[in-house]
Amino acid sequence: MSWSTTRPRSEKYGRAHAQTRAQHMQALREAGGVGRCAERICRASSRRITVAMGSKLHLCHDRETGQVLGLGHAACNLSEAARYARAKQTEAEATRLDWG
Ligand SMILES: [Zn+2]
Repeated sequence: MSWSTTRPRSEKYGRAHAQTRAQHMQALREAGGVGRCAERICRASSRRITVAMGSKLHLCHDRETGQVLGLGHAACNLSEAARYARAKQTEAEATRLDWG
């Protein structure tokens, strides 16, 4: 059983999420526009993130506590979500994902 890599996630979060994300973007700007990917496991070649990445930056959360970790690469955030989803699948259904 294959697992879609294109699951839409936009509009999944409400206004509070958008405001929190905006606050983190503002903090990133104030930090000179450069920061570090906040996801626990970064899949990018570098943890460096920049304001210029814009929508490519996602707000990362601790899965267990719901605590906001900060901004991270979209790919890293989606990868974390995929790991979580995969962990919920049975062993037989689990399919290795390649995020390129
Ligand atoms: Zn990353």
